[in-house]
Amino acid sequence: MGGVPRTDEAAAFVNVRSASRNAPAGPSPFAVEAAALPREKFVDPALTAKGEPRASVPLVRLDTLWLNTGTLCNLACATCYIESSPTNDALVYLRSHDAGRFLDEAAGMGTREIGFTGGEPFMNPDILAMLEDSLARGFEVLVLTNAMRPMRRHERALLALRERFGERLTLRVSLDHHSRPVHEAERGANSWGPAMDGLRWLSDHGFAIAVAGRLLPGEGEQEARRAYAALFAGEGIGIDAHDPARLVLFPEMDAGKDIAEITTACWDILGKSPSDIMCASSRMVVHRKGEPSPRVAACTLIPYDPGFDLGATLAEASGEVALNHPHCARFCVLGGASCSA
Ligand code: SF4
Ligand code: SF4
Repeated sequence: MGGVPRTDEAAAFVNVRSASRNAPAGPSPFAVEAAALPREKFVDPALTAKGEPRASVPLVRLDTLWLNTGTLCNLACATCYIESSPTNDALVYLRSHDAGRFLDEAAGMGTREIGFTGGEPFMNPDILAMLEDSLARGFEVLVLTNAMRPMRRHERALLALRERFGERLTLRVSLDHHSRPVHEAERGANSWGPAMDGLRWLSDHGFAIAVAGRLLPGEGEQEARRAYAALFAGEGIGIDAHDPARLVLFPEMDAGKDIAEITTACWDILGKSPSDIMCASSRMVVHRKGEPSPRVAACTLIPYDPGFDLGATLAEASGEVALNHPHCARFCVLGGASCSA
């Protein structure tokens, strides 16, 4: 979805990406146009580079628990924020027995929804067991998928889950743009047709569905919604493109580009509240390669940064989050996005 941090790890990833069969060859059409991020920004969790108190967000209620299923993906998108690819297993597959421990804990905290994200969740060998476990416990479930071959291998099992649990299971398909050329510039050649086929299959079979898209630099939201609406009408896909819960349009993200730091004074200036921000109501479980067991990260966007690793349990991870990352500013506070909307 977003920008690749300009780190050595990211440089290594770009090489992996170019080695991947379907990886896009050129620059991302969604690249952020801004100067490089100054080194002195986003360093101290307590203070900004100007010495002002940095904003933080307390957990109000754990409404959504995200389970990261692992970074392996059948695609290698140009600006995948989590650097997924067919070979990147920096986050290993989450196993169902580990997930169960967090589901137990979430049930005791009044959690409404379990979100599954990757990588491509349907590549995880335990995905169906984890979906069933979550649904059988009474949670709503949201799965982020590219709707391509890994998902299509599970058609029968998905139909059985839809039969048992109906609208409590939602699949949100990433369709980066309403036009094939832009979608494929980001996601790789021949990625459009299979994604559209998968989306149509879900729609035709009565699943609760949504789409996640993105805006090009300078593209207006209403203009994009009208174009998605025309696409969905033409393809017979049952999604209201003017419903922000059914077509989620994400702002740009690039951790290497300059952006303002968020201070405690910003809430009043921007007319926002810390409780509106994603980490006020969600956390994400990740299993990093080399670690003995899964851990809890502040949110879906920052899985690797030790400053956003909050602990081994949901209870340990229930404290405040200092907004000490460019994504906090560009995506959440200034862009106003939430992964679960
Ligand atoms: S499909 Fe999603 S997880 Fe996979 S590479 Fe693209 S953005 Fe990343
Ligand atoms: S990027 Fe994550 S930690 Fe930062 S404000 Fe957004 S949800 Fe919170």
